[in-house]
Amino acid sequence: MPLRIYNTLTRRKEEFVPLHGNRVSMFVCGITPQDSAHVGHAKTYVAFDVVARYLRQKGYAVFYLQNVTDMEDRIIEKIEKTGKDWRDIVATYWREFQEGMRALRCDSVNLYARATDYIPEIIAQIQGLLQKGFAYVARDGSVYYDTTKYTDWGKLSGQKVEELRPGARVTPDPNKRNPADFALWKAQKPGEPAWDSPWGKGRPGWHIEDTAISIHHLGPQYDLHGSAVEHVFPHHEAEIAQAEAFTGVKPFVRTWMHTGMLMVAGEEMHKSLGNFWALKDALKVVSGDELRFFLLNAQYRSPINFTQAGLEEASAAYRRVRDGVVNARAAERVAPASGSGDAGLKAAVATARAGFTAAMDDDFNTREAIAAIHDLVSASNRALEAGAGRAALHETVEAFREFDEVLSLFSPPSADADRILTGVLDFLVQLREDARKRKDFATSDTIRTRLADLGIVLEDTKDGVRWRRK
Ligand SMILES: [Zn+2]
Repeated sequence: MPLRIYNTLTRRKEEFVPLHGNRVSMFVCGITPQDSAHVGHAKTYVAFDVVARYLRQKGYAVFYLQNVTDMEDRIIEKIEKTGKDWRDIVATYWREFQEGMRALRCDSVNLYARATDYIPEIIAQIQGLLQKGFAYVARDGSVYYDTTKYTDWGKLSGQKVEELRPGARVTPDPNKRNPADFALWKAQKPGEPAWDSPWGKGRPGWHIEDTAISIHHLGPQYDLHGSAVEHVFPHHEAEIAQAEAFTGVKPFVRTWMHTGMLMVAGEEMHKSLGNFWALKDALKVVSGDELRFFLLNAQYRSPINFTQAGLEEASAAYRRVRDGVVNARAAERVAPASGSGDAGLKAAVATARAGFTAAMDDDFNTREAIAAIHDLVSASNRALEAGAGRAALHETVEAFREFDEVLSLFSPPSADADRILTGVLDFLVQLREDARKRKDFATSDTIRTRLADLGIVLEDTKDGVRWRRK
């Protein structure tokens, strides 16, 4: 079965075929580092981390680009509020964002491109739009995109320009020809950070940085653009209008992907509602792995309801899966050649692999993919009870490894710390056996108790004593 992705532009699932052979170019809207990233950001970036990982596992050479909006209205507001230099504001929140991404294991981005590093490309694109008649210079030295000149305006969101005509409550902007027009370049106001341009000192508008950065790195047309659903309009509509008017190549992006909203206890998350969850605060309540698991337990287009009960449920489910994986790994090293649970386990591995791939090929349905992992954990636990042989356990462990290459929920078993820890545990089990043989029950009981305190239980099997996580 080929991979199928829901495309916001065509409003249906389509077979994914890259533009250039095996290469996939992927762009996702990045953050504006002017405040703490929140759990809604986490939802989007975990989703696209898995998209990149799955495409790579399928053998595609993925270039994953994310912009960083390091100059924008909200940064100007923050300067006014705090009196700080914009570079310090950006550096602080960028560091915090990176820590959050590390905790969530989001590490598949190839390049984080900062808007202010692309001022020449931004200016060149605005000049091109002016020359082609899609933009105009306002009295104050700002440059606007003329949305009435672009006939495809609204094709992504389904919004019409007419619907955006000024209503009674909207104050018309004297610099704009039409209410839907948006700023490509904003003229400097006193005290604001600014760059030189042919229209005087100023700074880029928000939408133009994405097309300047993406066209520079990916060309006039590329495969995937991702973001949260609230950016479909006007942000992505504006991107399409800019890029297609500038290059003449349509469509600018072949597949537009949008993640569903994160709600908090059934409501939209807003600072004004007092239900704002900064990522760093969520990571004080649950581990990064547990939060990642919680977010992936829904298909990316579905909204997620962020609740304490939901988090706790996800944490418990996460630990069940993790312990199942760790126990299968530990058992494999000491397993006999064969066991009576082997046939059932091998069949379960085949079913889980097929289920996982079918789920991921169906528009990255991580919820169903996780269900396949749960099933394999149950089968593996049953087989360990019944007695499992090395080959069947090896296949099981391999399947878990393949799944985790995509979902990245667990520490890799090859990590040095893991190797040392399992070696020490095996050695302790051996010491306890030796103590029992010489009838030194005080020592053997101490070892058992101390390990139990650490959540490690020892169990007798017909092939000897084995440790596992409780
Ligand atoms: Zn963007």
